[in-house]
Amino acid sequence: MTHRDVAIIGAGPAGLFAAEIIATAGHHVTIYERMPSPARKFLLAGRGGLNLTHSEPIERFLTQYGPNAEKVRSIVEAFPPSALIGWANGLGAETFIGSSGRVFPRAMKASPLLRAWLRRLNELGVVIKSRHCWSGFVAEGGCSFETPEGPIVIKPDATLFALGGASWPKLGSDALWAETFKNAGIPVTPLEAANCGVLISWSEIFRSRFEGAALKRIALNCAGATTRGEVIVTKTGLEGGAVYALIPQLRSALRTQESATLSIDLKPDVEHSVLAERLAKPRGKETLTNFLRKAAHLDPPALALLREADASLPAEADALAARIKSVPLRINGLSGIGRAISTAGGIDWAALTDDLMIKERPGMFAAGEMLDWEGPTGGYLLQATFATATRAATGMLAWLASAESEASSGL
Ligand SMILES: Cc1cc2nc3c(=O)[nH]c(=O)nc-3n(C[C@H](O)[C@H](O)[C@H](O)COP(=O)(O)OP(=O)(O)OC[C@H]3O[C@@H](n4cnc5c(N)ncnc54)[C@H](O)[C@@H]3O)c2cc1C
Repeated sequence: MTHRDVAIIGAGPAGLFAAEIIATAGHHVTIYERMPSPARKFLLAGRGGLNLTHSEPIERFLTQYGPNAEKVRSIVEAFPPSALIGWANGLGAETFIGSSGRVFPRAMKASPLLRAWLRRLNELGVVIKSRHCWSGFVAEGGCSFETPEGPIVIKPDATLFALGGASWPKLGSDALWAETFKNAGIPVTPLEAANCGVLISWSEIFRSRFEGAALKRIALNCAGATTRGEVIVTKTGLEGGAVYALIPQLRSALRTQESATLSIDLKPDVEHSVLAERLAKPRGKETLTNFLRKAAHLDPPALALLREADASLPAEADALAARIKSVPLRINGLSGIGRAISTAGGIDWAALTDDLMIKERPGMFAAGEMLDWEGPTGGYLLQATFATATRAATGMLAWLASAESEASSGL
């Protein structure tokens, strides 16, 4: 086999993992990264414990990728959660399954894993060139870069783009590539915030008392989709996994309306009839707040939210139970892409072969968050990132091998 020169552009988890696969196959790999050091977003993900993947049954796992779940399915099936866990264990990162089924490294951070990974890449001969910002395509499969020493052009045998989405641009992924790709005739679905907070105009009194408070063990509903979990009250609205999971529904409602409605069930584990029965008991001299706290077991943030949504609470038990199980909140928008955990949108699947090669650019592949998929938090993002990197890297190896056999047969 001839050892080929391969360029990987972007040193996030997708780029690093593709580099590992391609270098293991014996090719010369150079990673070009615009920032002074690799994998800054991966390190930030480590601050939340680094939720690598999820332990739920694979069939359920595969349904998590929104409208493009079918595209992601075979890619994740070929590199499932067990493969990602095995890889992390192989780098010395023992993992455990949290109470919600999420999988984390025991260290609950990314830095030890990243250090071991970079050591492995170094042993494989992978070179990382930092402060190299990809600036465009040039003829014959080449790429141009801005570097501290001025612009350069490279012409590798194959290239893999792993430039990430558009969230947290200060960590390196600003999605400026999207415009360049579109100008080169490669369709890109607009990048939008995913896994982000929602905007709600809280009253001053609610905001000042409950900013930072958690609404626990609640269920949220939007457009027929329901999630369960916890959310945090912020200055401008709500944040947290349970609301992130409804962003696709809220985003689509907000496309056509000025606001959307999110309804919150403050007591998802209590049947309406049971709650109504409890609320039908005589209140005596108790204030409504005290009565609700005792009869419905609502904590102060939940009680305040009930009044914040609509101060005039129904007097009748049945209607009051219905309100507690469906508190309507007006959502005015999504918080900005800059602070989102991930983005939706990216390179259109129609622009890619099954091996994630860009049809318009033979020998150029793409992986990770720059492709058009989205998923909720829970480990689904890193799993798809690693799985798409695997598909693109193995696709590139097959493409290099077929180019070599064509050349040797004189075709
Ligand atoms: C706060 C936070 C917490 C998260 N927590 C989790 C979690 O616990 N679990 C989970 O599954 N996911 C999590 N994620 C999401 C996860 O980190 C991303 O999905 C993942 O990093 C995407 O990997 P990527 O390699 O595709 O892109 P990125 O990690 O964004 O890497 C892209 C790389 O390309 C470089 N680049 C961009 N443009 C250029 C250019 N023009 N030239 C050269 N280099 C360029 C960037 O600098 C960057 O290094 C979290 C994200 C955030 C923001």
